[in-house]
Amino acid sequence: MRTTGNRILLFCFFLLTTPLTLPVPALAWWEKGHRIVTANAVAALPDDMPRFFKDGAATLIRLSSQPDEWRRFGTELGRTEGPDHYLDTEKLAANPTKLAFQSDRYAALKTYFEMKETPAGIGLLPYRLTEDYQRLRGTFAQYRKDPTNPSIQQEILVYAGLLSHYAGDTAQPLHTTIHFNGRVDQRGTVITGKGIHERFEGVFVDKFIQQADCRKYVGAPVVYPNLSDAIREALAQSFAGIDEVYRLDETGKLKAPDSATKTFVQQRLAHGSHFLTSLWYTAWKESEMSKGAR
Ligand SMILES: [Zn+2]
Repeated sequence: MRTTGNRILLFCFFLLTTPLTLPVPALAWWEKGHRIVTANAVAALPDDMPRFFKDGAATLIRLSSQPDEWRRFGTELGRTEGPDHYLDTEKLAANPTKLAFQSDRYAALKTYFEMKETPAGIGLLPYRLTEDYQRLRGTFAQYRKDPTNPSIQQEILVYAGLLSHYAGDTAQPLHTTIHFNGRVDQRGTVITGKGIHERFEGVFVDKFIQQADCRKYVGAPVVYPNLSDAIREALAQSFAGIDEVYRLDETGKLKAPDSATKTFVQQRLAHGSHFLTSLWYTAWKESEMSKGAR
């Protein structure tokens, strides 16, 4: 979920007008979407994934929405964390397949500043995916040397669970575009579709989507030969869905969906699951070859 000025104002209004005993609204695909992505990613894992990993489903699922919670834990953390959840592709390339990633997030930030942009103005999602993937792969390599150590197993579940959040965000078309909460003009002013972000990833999923209906679209994980290419491809598939998200909103299908509308959203969530389960599986397989050294 992206933070916008309006969203913060709405949220503050909600806090001021809501008794503290009521649950606060979730701030993810929302939470339900991220839980679906992660639960189905666990279900798709093959038998050669370590048993403790599959048995850790509850931890993985809990952590899948935690990075959105972090943004409410404190101002500094919120500002630092926010840009890791999206990429405004159009500011860097015509579409994600044309993206040239920098060597790391600091090199990316240097480029952004040279463009007179801020981290929040473009986003850093590909770098966060890469960093969390490498944390996981490196810890898997340590696990291979000490497989009965419960602390290493717990650490692996933490990294894998956090990675699940960013993989899930990658599958949300509105996390890949400048049109993240309404179509914008060249100055960034919203022209149409204001508020679409919540209508699509939150209200719709909460009301109309169930985990079991997404499961059939999640295939077995693949081992990615190249992580950057895999991230570009996942972003590109998501980016290709932007017009459809707007069409569904404009035609009222997000309020009264037909089966094709539900299928579109189920397949987006399923794509997030496939991306995630493949990232986990690739980290496991690569940890054997690289010993986490790369
Ligand atoms: Zn997020």
